[in-house]
Amino acid sequence: MSIIVMKFGGTSVADINCIKNVAKKIRNELRNNHKIVVVVSAMAGTTNQLIDWVKEAAANVNKREYDVVVSSGEQITSGLLTLALSDLNIYSRSWLGWQVPLLTDRIHSKASIVKIDTKAIKNFFKTGDVAVVAGFQGVNSNGDISTLGRGGSDTSAVAFAAALKAKRCDIYTDVEGIYTSDPRIVSKANKLVKVSFEEMMEMSSQGAKVLETRSVALAMKYGVRIQVLSSFKDTLGTFVVDEEEIMEKKVVSGIAHSLNVAKITIVGIPDKPGQAAKLFSGLAQSSINVDMIVQSSSPDSNSTDLTFTVPETELKFAIDAINKTKFDVGFKEILSDIDVGKIAVVGVGMNARPGVAQKMFESLAEKSINLQVISTSEIKISILIEASYVELALRTLHSAFDLDK
Ligand code: ADP
Ligand code: ASP
Ligand code: MG
Repeated sequence: MSIIVMKFGGTSVADINCIKNVAKKIRNELRNNHKIVVVVSAMAGTTNQLIDWVKEAAANVNKREYDVVVSSGEQITSGLLTLALSDLNIYSRSWLGWQVPLLTDRIHSKASIVKIDTKAIKNFFKTGDVAVVAGFQGVNSNGDISTLGRGGSDTSAVAFAAALKAKRCDIYTDVEGIYTSDPRIVSKANKLVKVSFEEMMEMSSQGAKVLETRSVALAMKYGVRIQVLSSFKDTLGTFVVDEEEIMEKKVVSGIAHSLNVAKITIVGIPDKPGQAAKLFSGLAQSSINVDMIVQSSSPDSNSTDLTFTVPETELKFAIDAINKTKFDVGFKEILSDIDVGKIAVVGVGMNARPGVAQKMFESLAEKSINLQVISTSEIKISILIEASYVELALRTLHSAFDLDK
């Protein structure tokens, strides 16, 4: 018996018609004699609405209760899709995270998956055909509902595919695959046939929300074959594969961007060993993702400044965490800026060929775009710029690196 995982994002289940369309797609896949695990997101806009309500209800949000509320969107879609499937005479059943159970750690609102118990689903497959699982949610060892962080249904899907040794993990969404850049912003973006795990990890972590970063990491670790494809068109999507499967190693395969980013500068840190460790341990304890870290010290003073980025949605928590270290570290002040955006050019061929940075900086200079922070990895160069220049920079770099259609 082979198992396929099919994941449907928010726009794919946005209303009852969309849900019926999804049910038909599942029926088509069943004709190939698979058992199917379907992972669903909440209907488009629902999670945002739930988060707004949570924020309205209380100034200080208790994260256990946050998870109780925001996980409910996926409960609705899992039930509705199962009903639509039964209308097509398909034997299916819905499963909430705790019913599977999908066990997570105890970090509410950003939990990590610890284990998926597949016994009950496998037992169901002795007679049933489709297990519809609510994505984005699990249960922790206290018996409390947990959620996996925004975009977490992708991670649920890949985790089920790994746990059940599924033949494929198809991620259905509102675009036809993974493109050289966000096709909603760069009209000349091209659909990729294949992209490597490493490249996709960088693209996702730098803002390409078509796949959530942790889902790509999990797929790489467990060798899950992901395909990203459209819920609305019957076209082949993009496969995320091992680097060895890609014959032509492009210098730049894609350009990602994010506007959900804030810059923090900690000014006047007395220059002695252990300071960065103290500052970042507070941020780590609060599970805040830090990126683009740059330290600058001037030779004629004995203090340094530290600049880095965090997701804009986590800025307040980051500042609170840093302030807690103020007495110990003894810095002067914290500056922050949310009027920034991040752009990253990514490609596995980059480390073998020099000149990428120079080409990137030159193209941006021609458009008078000022670079605030630069950071690099083997297969990525990312920059932080003023938010209003992000679209221009994206299109400029897309042309400069010959990615236009
Ligand atoms: P879903 O609700 O199906 O999970 P998301 O909104 O999370 O969908 O992700 C799909 C969106 O990702 C697309 O609509 C597109 O705007 C955006 N996106 C960003 N970068 C890329 C890229 N490189 N390729 C394709 N889509 C991208
Ligand atoms: N519904 C959740 C979100 O909007 C999870 C997901 O769609 O992947 O973030
Ligand atoms: Mg998504």
